[in-house]
Amino acid sequence: MSTLLEVSDVTVSFDGFRAINNLSFHIGPAEMRAIIGPNGAGKTTFMDIVTGKTKPDKGRVIWGARRLSLLGLSEARIAREGIGRKFQKPTVFEDQSVQENLLMALKNRRGPLSVLFYRPMAAHLARVAALAEEIGLADQLQRKAGELSHGQKQWLEIGMLLAQEPKLLLVDEPAAGMTPAEREHTTNILVEAAKTRAVVVVEHDMEFVRRLGCKVTVLHEGSVLAEGSLDHVTADKEVIDVYLGR
Ligand code: ADP
Repeated sequence: MSTLLEVSDVTVSFDGFRAINNLSFHIGPAEMRAIIGPNGAGKTTFMDIVTGKTKPDKGRVIWGARRLSLLGLSEARIAREGIGRKFQKPTVFEDQSVQENLLMALKNRRGPLSVLFYRPMAAHLARVAALAEEIGLADQLQRKAGELSHGQKQWLEIGMLLAQEPKLLLVDEPAAGMTPAEREHTTNILVEAAKTRAVVVVEHDMEFVRRLGCKVTVLHEGSVLAEGSLDHVTADKEVIDVYLGR
């Protein structure tokens, strides 16, 4: 299988403390991966490294078939390379409609020069309608984002990220604070999204991870402790010890 993102032997220290310790991680172009691990395991720092927010002390971060090194690239440049990140808290424009939020994301797709890639409004609206369908908000297009439920806002933000057509989507605890029905819908959106792009989900809710049905990477003290199916990693003695705090 080809590799989309290759993180090799990466180390990051904060004041001498190794938050990431010789971490290696690979993901393919249309793969879903869940990252789990106790608090402080390095999950957020890992995403910060991939998106260019944190620069590693050592190691390599290689992107795509061109084998581009992401080290030293700005966050904006990395985003333009096709790496999208969804933070836990949804950041939608509350006083704009669902349609306007999606349109804005679509127009931002090519950055500030998007006016040079003029497309008729009808084409944008058709794409927005398709995105709304994908995230299950087709019947909410005219509603103000501020009136949506917590779950719907999360889906809208995922839709806004999908509008940018990322090749890799990093998602931080998408199911936090959701009802069981909302969690199930979120699973469906992510599973669908992962058919055409890589999706990395950081998640604490094991039932949610089980539903994703994907390979799991367990982080602990900044390194990969175990990797494989959820059943495989949760049967691992070291993983059990870490989770039980032994
Ligand atoms: P997780 O997301 O798995 O909970 P983090 O990546 O947030 O873990 O943190 C990993 C470790 O690095 C923790 O011990 C945390 O306290 C430490 N850490 C993270 N960011 C910083 C920072 N900016 N300065 C100092 N320590 C940090």
